[in-house]
Amino acid sequence: MSDAAAKRYDVAVIGAGMAGMAAALFAAERGLSCIQIGSGGGILFASGLLDLLAVQPVAQHRLWQSPYDALAALAREQPGHPLARVDPASVRTAFETFVAALRSAGLAYAPLGERNSHVITSIGSVKTSYGVPLTMVAGVAALERRLPCLLVDFRGLREFSARQIVETLAHEWPALRQQRIEFPGFEAVPELYAAHLARALENRETRERTIALIKPLLGDACVVGLPALLGLGQSSAVHAAFEAGLGLPVFEIPTMPTSVPGLRLLGALEAVMSARGVTRRQLSSVCDLTFDGGTATLDLNGAPGGERIQARAVVLASGRFSGRGLTADRQSVRESILGLPVQQPPAREDWHQRDFLDPAGHAINSAGLMTDEAWRPLDASGKPAWAKLFAIGSILAEQDWMRAKCGSGLAIATAWAAVEQITQQLHEAP
Ligand SMILES: Cc1cc2nc3c(=O)[nH]c(=O)nc-3n(C[C@H](O)[C@H](O)[C@H](O)COP(=O)(O)OP(=O)(O)OC[C@H]3O[C@@H](n4cnc5c(N)ncnc54)[C@H](O)[C@@H]3O)c2cc1C
Repeated sequence: MSDAAAKRYDVAVIGAGMAGMAAALFAAERGLSCIQIGSGGGILFASGLLDLLAVQPVAQHRLWQSPYDALAALAREQPGHPLARVDPASVRTAFETFVAALRSAGLAYAPLGERNSHVITSIGSVKTSYGVPLTMVAGVAALERRLPCLLVDFRGLREFSARQIVETLAHEWPALRQQRIEFPGFEAVPELYAAHLARALENRETRERTIALIKPLLGDACVVGLPALLGLGQSSAVHAAFEAGLGLPVFEIPTMPTSVPGLRLLGALEAVMSARGVTRRQLSSVCDLTFDGGTATLDLNGAPGGERIQARAVVLASGRFSGRGLTADRQSVRESILGLPVQQPPAREDWHQRDFLDPAGHAINSAGLMTDEAWRPLDASGKPAWAKLFAIGSILAEQDWMRAKCGSGLAIATAWAAVEQITQQLHEAP
């Protein structure tokens, strides 16, 4: 492939998980031409809840009501954590911008305030998160005030059991009840899938039949909970129709992954990319990345014959092991594209604690790339690998996003910080 035929962009984003999506959005909003390479990453498995930071320190599992107080504690106790390196005002602006973009694509979130919310999960545990889809918000108040509440599920839907939730929460929420109903039109189907039901509820007749089945079960309930399947692309309208039809607040509970809220989030982010003019290569991956002066050349596989593109800056948002940004053999962990040095435990036997459920987590889950203060990953000599290569999201070292409950926060905040650096550098460049 020749360089002459290569298409040129201001920014190439490697990765289409939460971090890659956020970086492409922020770059496009700053007027930079942008190409994004990669498939949906962990988004499909996400609950739709946007975690900022709930737990710090991880080993003590200290839960925080305010994510911003948690960020302040993180900055004191673990200043090398990537989230601690982004100033809180930027974190706030980044979240507001991200959520506004989702809203513009039809996926509405409750206004972001100062506090985390408590949300019921599909197994009856309580999750602490920050950004809550509007379709789930009524559940936050219902749980907090222990309101008389009816949970409804559907026979054949394996990924969600209202009975399990009620049994788990019964001792602390006596006014929580459950009922199981048939899903209209699917009475003869033994096994149901949330995504199919979500699509079916976008049909008015199916919706009205479902509401008619729930109404006689309401009793003293003043709020109704359902598995998260109130529409796929039209969740706001389907949710509003349920509230109007039942005459009560209605909330969704995320089901097990792959969940409808994850599908919605991915669909909304794809719409955002398209509306902002981001060029996408979802079926391609970067197989080679080289730098020459002020230009990066990326070779992609996926299309027949491959494709070569060039960019003035590159964002590496390729994730950890599940995203394939990092790969491990029996001895060590390596970064997959450039072979950048990975901060990791010195020996294989130090990767995991003896106890799988050790509250401190496992050292391997904090392995990743080290960067300078401008988010540029370091090479073996400890210097930035290239002046305009930036690393963001879960590929970064010194964080365990799953245990700290900061997955989206890490992705969105570091994307914002890196794009600020890129904008500054590209404007300074000739
Ligand atoms: C089970 C599960 C539950 C979750 N629940 C929540 C939740 O409740 N709340 C929350 O906030 N977040 C949740 N998340 C999402 C989480 O926030 C993000 O997945 C996490 O932050 C990692 O995002 P990332 O973009 O860094 O990496 P990933 O999501 O792993 O994305 C990596 C991307 O890089 C691409 N890539 C890798 N190598 C290449 C290459 N060579 N060329 C091109 N592309 C490449 C991949 O295709 C992928 O698009 C959940 C995720 C999972 C997996």
